[in-house]
Amino acid sequence: MKCVMCGGKTEQKKITVTELGKALGQFEADVCMKCGEKYYSEEAMRKIQVREKETGIFGLEAETEVTQYGNSLAVRIKKALSDFVGLKKGKKVHVYPLDAKKLAIEVV
Ligand SMILES: [Zn+2]
Repeated sequence: MKCVMCGGKTEQKKITVTELGKALGQFEADVCMKCGEKYYSEEAMRKIQVREKETGIFGLEAETEVTQYGNSLAVRIKKALSDFVGLKKGKKVHVYPLDAKKLAIEVV
């Protein structure tokens, strides 16, 4: 097939998929030889999703709400996400900006 991103040629390969530091396994994909873009078949995407669920990383991304505590703001973090990074009430975190619209919260 032709790469949608750059028009380059793709080759079918078995590639190792890693998400959020968890190796999900090897899956068939058409990989662009020019830009590296990967195209998974529907079957491979379904298998990847099954592995995401098995490893507890499926659906961790979510929109959340900012609330106020006195002069400070608090961000609600759902349980699955806090469990994934080992965040608990009272735990120390390092908070810093990544750019003008992104914040990082690192568990210390
Ligand atoms: Zn490409």
